[in-house]
Amino acid sequence: MTNPPPSRSRVLIPLALVALAACAMGLRGCGSLSPSAAVHPVPQEPLVYEFPVFNTFAVLKAWVPQERGDVAAREVLEVLRDLHNRINIFDPESELSKLNSTAATAPFPCSDELWALLTECRRAWRETDGAFDVSVGPLMRLWGLHRKRETLPTDAEVAETLQLVGLDKVVFDDAKHTVGFPKEGMYLDFGGIAKGYALQLVVDLLRQHRISPALVDLGGNIAGLGTPPGRDAFTIGVRNPFDTDDLLGTIKVTDRAVATSGNYERQIVIQGRTIQHIVDPRTGQPVATFAGVTIITPRPVNSDIYSTAVFVAGESLARKLTTQDPETGVVLVRAGAKAPALQTFGRVTVEQ
Ligand code: ADP
Ligand code: MG
Repeated sequence: MTNPPPSRSRVLIPLALVALAACAMGLRGCGSLSPSAAVHPVPQEPLVYEFPVFNTFAVLKAWVPQERGDVAAREVLEVLRDLHNRINIFDPESELSKLNSTAATAPFPCSDELWALLTECRRAWRETDGAFDVSVGPLMRLWGLHRKRETLPTDAEVAETLQLVGLDKVVFDDAKHTVGFPKEGMYLDFGGIAKGYALQLVVDLLRQHRISPALVDLGGNIAGLGTPPGRDAFTIGVRNPFDTDDLLGTIKVTDRAVATSGNYERQIVIQGRTIQHIVDPRTGQPVATFAGVTIITPRPVNSDIYSTAVFVAGESLARKLTTQDPETGVVLVRAGAKAPALQTFGRVTVEQ
């Protein structure tokens, strides 16, 4: 063990990023988090880097020598910036904006990076039996989740909008890497995968650089690589959805990622009805069964996907995902209960 170098400090990396709601990108090998041998004496104190990104801060803590941390952090910045530019829906020139605005007219040719992200989205849709569906854009808009509205939509409007939703309706050409929409008005929304996918890219990069132990927090999507010095695991707090200043408990994480979808995150009220920011692509309705869904997985992108999907599909999907991958864990907190009652599936222990 070495003493921390005197220059070890909090570094704010300026990233000229504006507000972003959704993101994507790819192609850096999406490997699982798995233990890797540290190739250096592990400092007791981490380097801390912060990147303003996706309307939030990404924080990287790395227990490595300064030079190696700085090189990796610069590359992390590049990865996040590239991702942002590619999928920034507020920039009409971004690749995602162009796809959304033109795919109904002609098949849109995707970059390798966007195609890699779409491949994850399609896999997620299959794996979750359609509960996770990035084509929910028109529903998000209908329910005022993208743009403010004063009145609730009618059943007829919901039914009509559902005609524009469903990844099975989107035409993917696997040879040409193009995307086509059969109807005008369809659009893709990466809000349920963006942060997890970004986290996946960051973790892949850190693993290439053998940066470990390390902890990455990308707007609440958290990954721990290796084991922090002097402890047996990283400890991640799970927020109490009924009292966000409080914790439900903690989860121990080693080479795992954790993400939570919670009803406290973003919700709006229209004509007295509270609308959650996750919608069921099958019924067209916002879902409110759970107050919070926390997922722990080996692959960072999956914790984000599954937290949204299980929020929609509930226990049966939690059971399926944890059976399919015994390394995955799910924590459910039901909405409406007076006190939070936890239900866990698979490999996870919540310590209280
Ligand atoms: P947060 O971004 O607050 O962490 P989530 O990861 O749960 O929350 O993602 C919620 C976002 O996912 C919504 O804001 C919307 O953009 C998108 N979304 C909503 N419903 C679905 C769905 N059924 N499938 C895929 N994405 C969805
Ligand atoms: Mg999610």
